[in-house]
Amino acid sequence: MTRGHVSLVGAGPGDPGLLTRTAIARLRNADLVLYDALVGDRILRYARRAQRFFVGKRAGRHAMTQPAINALMIRAARRGKRVVRLKGGDPFVFGRGGEEALALQHAGVAYDVVPGVTSAIAAPASAGIPVTHRGVASAFLVVSAHEESAFTSAIAALQPNGITVVVLMGLARSAAIACRLIDNGWSLGTPAAIVVDATKAQQHVWRGTLGALAADAVDIDSDGPGTIVIGDVVAVGLHAVAGTEREPFRRAFGGDHVSRG
Ligand code: SAH
Repeated sequence: MTRGHVSLVGAGPGDPGLLTRTAIARLRNADLVLYDALVGDRILRYARRAQRFFVGKRAGRHAMTQPAINALMIRAARRGKRVVRLKGGDPFVFGRGGEEALALQHAGVAYDVVPGVTSAIAAPASAGIPVTHRGVASAFLVVSAHEESAFTSAIAALQPNGITVVVLMGLARSAAIACRLIDNGWSLGTPAAIVVDATKAQQHVWRGTLGALAADAVDIDSDGPGTIVIGDVVAVGLHAVAGTEREPFRRAFGGDHVSRG
């Protein structure tokens, strides 16, 4: 019997072109793929011969609890299956990949981690926003808006307008997040952007200011995932030349919705 194995694989932000070669190899070889909500069909197609199970969260409800996912991976690996646990972006960026790796380790199951292109960097990039830029921002902070107390303490430690702030899972709370930064001394005119469905055909970019974000003056007509970027890097003004190779750039610059508040 072949020895079972689990790969914790990052699927990137959505565009299959941003999958790594290792991710594709793992998918092609997999017997079983357990995937999350943000992983699209075009990526799952690589796992031709695998059984595929959705184990993520949809409409606020978990398809499967974390202990159940862990148990399923462990059981399948012990039966000799090659399991891919496929997550959006990078498995270790707000993806509970670390918890799953620990569970596999404790169970004595062989596993590896295939890093992915995280939306924390790729979403801004696909809208032409560099998270660092010489003379503008020399650091960036990636926070989740999911837990307000964690977010609050992360930004309380920052010098106002000092670095780029990238917020994941923040669309529903963008006004509250902006108010928190303003309370901490960030200026109302700080450039801000929201990149929704980054790197996908329906990518949409909102641009404005921290003040507009705080006033809830954002009109985004999508329920796709979105990444918020706050800081002067948003106004750097990169304009990639539309090329066939980097479609996301063209889409980003073609589809910008500009709003100044
Ligand atoms: N591990 C993932 C993040 C998981 S948290 C990663 O590294 O990218 C999920 C959040 O990621 C979403 O709420 C959203 O803020 C962001 N996100 C994921 N895919 C995205 C996309 N295509 N465009 C914009 N933001 C995205």
